[in-house]
Amino acid sequence: MRFCFKQKDFIEQSIEPDQLAVIDINRELTWLQFETEVNNICLFFKQQNWDKLGKPIILYGHKQIEMITVMYAMMKLNITYIPIDIIYPKQRILTIQQIAEVDIILNCTTNLLDFKNTTEVQVKPNELTIIKQDSTPVLSININPDPLIYIIFTSGSTGEPKGVQISTKAVQSFTKWMANDFGFSSKDIFINIANFSFDLSVFEVMTFGELGSTLLLNDLEITKDAELLMQRVENNQGTVLVATPSYALTYARIGADSRLNSIRYFLFCGETLPHTTAATLYKEYPKAIIFNTYGPTEATVATTQIEITQEILDKYNPLPVGFPKPECEILIETENPEEKEGELVIVGDHVSVGYFNNEELNKQKFFLHNGKRAFRTGDLAYYEDNMLFCKGRNDDQIKMHGFRIELNEITNAICKNEIVASAATVGLKRNNEVKKIVSFVIPKVAIEKTELNKILLPFLEKSLPYYMIPGDIDIVSDFPYSTSHKIDKKKLIEDYLKRQFNND
Ligand code: AMP
Repeated sequence: MRFCFKQKDFIEQSIEPDQLAVIDINRELTWLQFETEVNNICLFFKQQNWDKLGKPIILYGHKQIEMITVMYAMMKLNITYIPIDIIYPKQRILTIQQIAEVDIILNCTTNLLDFKNTTEVQVKPNELTIIKQDSTPVLSININPDPLIYIIFTSGSTGEPKGVQISTKAVQSFTKWMANDFGFSSKDIFINIANFSFDLSVFEVMTFGELGSTLLLNDLEITKDAELLMQRVENNQGTVLVATPSYALTYARIGADSRLNSIRYFLFCGETLPHTTAATLYKEYPKAIIFNTYGPTEATVATTQIEITQEILDKYNPLPVGFPKPECEILIETENPEEKEGELVIVGDHVSVGYFNNEELNKQKFFLHNGKRAFRTGDLAYYEDNMLFCKGRNDDQIKMHGFRIELNEITNAICKNEIVASAATVGLKRNNEVKKIVSFVIPKVAIEKTELNKILLPFLEKSLPYYMIPGDIDIVSDFPYSTSHKIDKKKLIEDYLKRQFNND
């Protein structure tokens, strides 16, 4: 059995019927059981008439099997889901609910969100119960030939998260690529690490379905503890590890443990793959294949790929991000034609139809190129030997520990506190990687730095996820400005480092 994304339905396949489809911490489902649970959820949705919903649904939870069964039921019925993990604070979830005008929340946890004017459903294994009905869901007939599958909210520079809308055709283009060009098979066991709020998780959430293979879910307790993770990989003989390079380095201690010997593929995405990480893996796990893939959420998970071989390791440092997927065009927009480095633009069906309800930003970032959707990534890139190389960003978006962060979203959140007159946020780098976020504040009243931090940190924790909370908040009396009248962040960092040095 497998889930065919072209038909958006389960189809038979000549594999053992008792092959496992999904495994979480508490239970596991064979493909037959998976299909049955998905179909039961579809029945529930149809009874409520939610297969005719004109709005997306929030799917809230962590790594429960129910998150996956509900996603597949929604895909079958063309209902759009917004996946939200428990790592998000309640205030942020409320903001997303309001931006997307969501009426219905499917909650796979036991903590009720209880937002005003919403209907909330508790999802337990094989059981959906409406626990609060405080809205009249808007029904409409879906005539969209390319219905949205999901909306993933990422950090937004204007101070609120922005919803990337991904359509059926985009997911189909992605799953086709995954099934054909990587060498995965129905025997593979995909080790999930990323939570479902991040599009990195779409790699395994969709690919296991298309192939009829197995998805191994790992909760926070396991993913933050390298020992537990490696034990679990060994116990379940996981074969495909999809992770950010930061994760591989920080937690999995990849490079020297026989418990990971079952892994056939290490697949990286989301940030620069350091040469040393790839070289260590190559040496320690000679039987495994290493892929570096690149792509923003706005182009459905990944857009380019390359297998990192000995030849590539010998020849290139930094490593390339490789070649575009089939039916995709990459443009490099340069200021003048002689330059080879410029902004990377992605063209193809896998490009998002735009941010939810955000026409202004859509006009800046999305356009049509030869009739196909195109997205300006903000990544600086160039071609060498026919391969793409990434060279950084042309804006204030950063990656820290694999998380995508708009520094301006942090600044905007700080400025909402009444004690703050003005603020700016920077990412401090070591070896080209952002290691710490520092915010600078001009307070409205005289206040000590420790006092300011005591007020601002808990304030920020209410609206920002933990990975966006600054490592330090410093007080300044004024900002240095560049000749173009922008805050001179380079000077701000230099002065900060000098102050730190003098304090030590
Ligand atoms: P996200 O939407 O979270 O997947 O983040 C997308 C951004 O991460 C891209 O626009 C790049 O800036 C960065 N990124 C993703 N993959 C890579 C890679 N393999 N190498 C370098 N940067 C990457």
